[in-house]
Amino acid sequence: MKRRDFWVRSRYNRRRLFAPTRCKKDISEALRKLHPKLLGISTRGTHRATNQQVVLNLLRAYQPISRAELARRLRMQRGAVGRIVNGLIVDGLVREGGPGDADRGRKPTLLHLDSRGRWSVAVDVRVTRTFLVITDLVGNELTPVRSFVTDADPKSFASHLAGEVRRLVADHTEAGQCHGVGVAFPGMLDRAGNIVLRAPALGWRNVPFKRLLSAALGLPVEVENAARACVFAQMWSLQGEAPPGDLAFVSVSDGLGVGLLVAGEVLRGRHNIAGEFGHLPLDLGGPPCACGAVGCWEAYVSNLATVSRYLGAPLRPGHPVASEVARLSIGDFMARVGEGDAKALSALASTAHYLGLGLASIVNSFDPDRIYIGGEIMAAWELMKAHVRRGLAERALLESAADVEIVPVAAREHPRLRGASALVGAQIFVAGGAATA
Ligand SMILES: [Zn+2]
Repeated sequence: MKRRDFWVRSRYNRRRLFAPTRCKKDISEALRKLHPKLLGISTRGTHRATNQQVVLNLLRAYQPISRAELARRLRMQRGAVGRIVNGLIVDGLVREGGPGDADRGRKPTLLHLDSRGRWSVAVDVRVTRTFLVITDLVGNELTPVRSFVTDADPKSFASHLAGEVRRLVADHTEAGQCHGVGVAFPGMLDRAGNIVLRAPALGWRNVPFKRLLSAALGLPVEVENAARACVFAQMWSLQGEAPPGDLAFVSVSDGLGVGLLVAGEVLRGRHNIAGEFGHLPLDLGGPPCACGAVGCWEAYVSNLATVSRYLGAPLRPGHPVASEVARLSIGDFMARVGEGDAKALSALASTAHYLGLGLASIVNSFDPDRIYIGGEIMAAWELMKAHVRRGLAERALLESAADVEIVPVAAREHPRLRGASALVGAQIFVAGGAATA
């Protein structure tokens, strides 16, 4: 082979190797591209829809904001920005609010994202109960949260959930147009969110849950691992100019999930299961876990583990939850913590210490800038903090890394429901749905 042929062939192979493949739009990727600090400057040649998305994302981060300020941040002519904004107002995605401040001259009209009359249903699936609420497309709750007992059988659950969603929608016809259902799910899913590959705590494997639910509902459905949905929503809700850095979201509920945001993207891995820290063992002689192993972090820290510890009733995965554990909700347990019940305080302190030990694995593996922790137990963060920090310091390989910022997310903020809502809202405001919304 002549040398020249070799080069031609190599270049051809390289092109083949790196040719773009058609895949589902990844919202976090789109969001990263549209982050105020990371986005490219719009040019005359930039597609209209892309310009619209850039403007929508700036509005999300800085609203309320004037046209002049948008133009300044985009380094675009005011007239060009004005035309994009007018198009978005006609499409019903942006609205004009009250006037802003001005040192002199006419006060500018401030712009807001407009999700009036459009909403989604956000669903938080947990092993014991499932919660649902109607939200607008930027995550504000529009109705009280409802809940029902989660069915163990996937088909029964999909039809039960579809019925609950239909009832909720029927009770709030005044709200406007439903754009879809977002589901934060406690398990591992394929990349497209179609198949539940495995949900250890529910005992599900390879369930086409999204198809079951959308067929029963006749509405678009987005399903995502609950902790991933949480970290994504956290990134989406960040205001202002600072890049988000690397983030982890630890969701403590009936199980324990971790979502990781690395270099601006949700970490997924080859099989879309990256970040399953809940099933990393803390102790090979530890308690049994729903996944079939023993000593997993989840088996020490989940709400079921905390309540079981308090009641002295060991968890027996694969068997029905002991009746005394099932009767005492995490809310009841936290009420006893609030009353100063010594046994409850001691059980919570143990959970907090184990929580810190597991956080050290996240710090040693990913060294994030910030760790959010969501869950009912975080209401007692002031009581837990020292125990969590002690566990983290015991196992973190670098003292300075153990100082990672920890941000408690209160249960009343419903982070999992916000995550579920963002799955639908971001499709419209970020990932290219603007032109068609
Ligand atoms: Zn496990």
